[in-house]
Amino acid sequence: MSSQPVGVHVGSGLTEDGEVADDGVLARAAEVDASAVQVFLADPQGWKAPKPRPDAEELRAADLTVVVHAPYVLNVASTNNRIRIPSRKLLGQHAAASAAIGAAGMVVHGGHVTGGDDPAAGFDNWRKLFERQADDGGFPVPVLVENTAGGEKAMARELEALARLWDAVGEFGAGFVLDTCHAWAAGWDLATVVDDVRAITGRIDLVHLNDSRDEAGSMRDRHAPLGEGQIPVDLLLEVARTAGCPVVLETPGDGPSHAAEIAMVRRALG
Ligand SMILES: [Zn+2]
Repeated sequence: MSSQPVGVHVGSGLTEDGEVADDGVLARAAEVDASAVQVFLADPQGWKAPKPRPDAEELRAADLTVVVHAPYVLNVASTNNRIRIPSRKLLGQHAAASAAIGAAGMVVHGGHVTGGDDPAAGFDNWRKLFERQADDGGFPVPVLVENTAGGEKAMARELEALARLWDAVGEFGAGFVLDTCHAWAAGWDLATVVDDVRAITGRIDLVHLNDSRDEAGSMRDRHAPLGEGQIPVDLLLEVARTAGCPVVLETPGDGPSHAAEIAMVRRALG
C-alpha cells in the first residue's frame, strides 16, 4: 500500500467560541478515513491572529499529516506597505500556530502585484520575507507556496513566473503546493505538470487534488469533486501518484462523498 497520506480540507473544526466542534478536525478525519487533513487556524478571509487551539495536543499526537492553510487575504508579494507588512505579520503568527499543532507545513498562495507594478518587485518581496525570517532562525514550519488560478501579474500562476519566484525563494527551502484545479485553470499540461514543476522547484510537497468546473485555461477557480468536473479523472489520479507526496482534497462535498473520493485516490495510489 502507498505511504502517501490522503485526506481533505476540514476548515477550522472549531465552534465560534473556539471550542472543538462536534465535527472537529479529528472527528472529520475519522469519518472520511483520512490520513491527512488541511485546517484553517483563523478566519481565512480575515486578519485576526490565530488563537491557541484546545485540540493542539491531540493534533500533535495524532497519526495524521496536518497542514495549515494560511488566510487568503495574505499577499506577501504586494508593493503596498499596508498589505505586505500585515501579511508578513499574519504569516509569522500562523507559522508559530502551525508549529503548535505539529503541522507538517503551512500553505500560502503566491500572491500578486497590481497596476503598474513590476512583477520583479513582487518576487523581491518574497525573497525579503524569507531573508528577514532567516535572521530569526527561519520559519518554524515549512512554508509551502501554492500555484494560483488567475490574476494578472501573479507570482505563481504561470510556470515562467514560478521560475522567477523560485530564483527568489528556493535557496531558503520554500516548499511547493500543486493545486490541480489552479494548474488546469492556468493552462498547465497536467500530463507533464509534475515533471514541469519539479524541473523548476525540485520538489512538490503537497497536492491539492481538485477537479475543475471550467475548461482548461479558463483562469477560473471553481473546484469540483473528482470526476464531476472538466479534468479527466485518470489525469488527476496520475498527478497524485507521480507527485509522491501527501494529497489533500479541496472539493465540495460531505462526509460520505469525501470518503468515497479518498478511497478512490488510495486505490489509484496502490
Ligand atoms: Zn488549493
